Amino acid sequence: MSKNITKRSEDYSKWYNELVVKADLAENSGVRGCMVIKPYGYAIWEKMQGELDKMFKETGHQNAYFPLFIPKSYFSKEASHVDGFAKECAVVTHYRLKTGEDGKTIEVDPDAKLEEELIVRPTSETIIWDTYRKWIESYRDLPILVNQWANVVRWEMRTRLFLRTAEFLWQEGHTAHATEQEAIAEAEQMLDVYADFAENFMAIPVVKGFKTENERFAGAIETYCIEALMQDGKALQAGTSHFLGQNFAKAFDVKFTSKEGKQEHVWATSWGVSTRLMGALIMTHSDDNGLVLPPNVAPIQVVIVPIHKNDEQLEAIREEVKKITDRFKKLNISFKFDDRTTYKPGWKFAEYELKGVPVRLAVGPKDLENGTFEVARRDTLTKEVVSKEGIVEYIQDLLEAIQENLFKKAHDYRAEHITEVNSFEEFKEILNEKGGFVSAHWDGTIETEEKIKDLTKATIRCIPIDRKEEEGVCVLTGMPSKGRVLFAKAY
Ligand code: AMP
Repeated sequence: MSKNITKRSEDYSKWYNELVVKADLAENSGVRGCMVIKPYGYAIWEKMQGELDKMFKETGHQNAYFPLFIPKSYFSKEASHVDGFAKECAVVTHYRLKTGEDGKTIEVDPDAKLEEELIVRPTSETIIWDTYRKWIESYRDLPILVNQWANVVRWEMRTRLFLRTAEFLWQEGHTAHATEQEAIAEAEQMLDVYADFAENFMAIPVVKGFKTENERFAGAIETYCIEALMQDGKALQAGTSHFLGQNFAKAFDVKFTSKEGKQEHVWATSWGVSTRLMGALIMTHSDDNGLVLPPNVAPIQVVIVPIHKNDEQLEAIREEVKKITDRFKKLNISFKFDDRTTYKPGWKFAEYELKGVPVRLAVGPKDLENGTFEVARRDTLTKEVVSKEGIVEYIQDLLEAIQENLFKKAHDYRAEHITEVNSFEEFKEILNEKGGFVSAHWDGTIETEEKIKDLTKATIRCIPIDRKEEEGVCVLTGMPSKGRVLFAKAY
């Protein structure tokens, strides 16, 4: 298979699909809409999981696990929730197969029909709130701060590797609180955790905001989100945190006795990020040569490629390399010394470039003589010859510099792609010619939001949390507006 990928400028979507496959991140499977995440892609996901898990625990959360299946009756208990998810549910109806009359084919045994169908979880509020009823009696049982790492199924019609799959991996936090203020503070705290993670770990700048009523999670009172901007000018919802009010507590009859001895319904939040973040990572940083990884998420931060003509040279290189890799281990710098003789150095260079390894060290006989290494940066594609004295510190600094540079680059791009517009003509022009976020006044109605979507394919990505109050008029209807919202075409 050729390692070359389509250029972004030729066909961004094709570039993305080819990159995901050729960089060994994931591939389509035999199951409609479901992907196979390959070891290299999974290693990146594990890095992300590890950091998020640490951040959740630092903010007082614990992990637990709930069933994959949800009885249909649970689902119907919260009306807007079932409305929102009904169209994309996978349903288990039978529990047994049998051999067909021809003795060969296998078919569903009609005698093994479940009394009550089971929904494969698209999200777990219902099963979790059914459980919380048993866990919560008094204010002393609150708060409950639980997270689950799991897979969920949403029968999406148009799927794309990582960005939108029918089955995806995610985490879902589900918390229960005694007061409204505490639940809102939790939803906001987790939004901050997500934004911190996206920006400081994945080097992806995000806008924190609220969703409009139309885009809100089914069953939520308020949906907070982080929105990222991809290199092609399209937005991507990178994470959501919901304030659920007492909706699920009422649907599942979850009450507690307050300090004053009164029976009250419990307040809830839920929050999640998914393997979609892999798509965000790819489309924020990568280039025409392949994946570009910020060092924090890179499974291999430094690859070392020996250049040698014979075993003796390789042995000498190995000795030099060991001196620095011993120090990498102590500093928690992940590395790979690729001394395979089955591949040529040029092939290896291309391979690690495609896989986005942040730093490449090459060392040959000349370097041995001179006491140097050739150091190549994946983000800028530049090379330097560096003396072996102090090289470990040099690389440590370089990894930090790469992480910062990638964030800055993405941040600059986003800053250039948030455009304020004051008329609908301008709105359409910017959207079609420049892309990115269009910051515009909106009259606050669902009708106008829908109409703009029909006319331009742009949706309201969010009402930025830190937006300024500003009197204006809606770009479509001319009706009064109190502030700007961000529109964009989105994944
Ligand atoms: P939600 O429960 O709808 O708020 O979604 C939680 C998280 O999962 C958000 O970060 C979404 O962007 C993400 N997500 C939603 N649907 C999919 C999907 N089909 N594939 C991958 N990620 C998804």
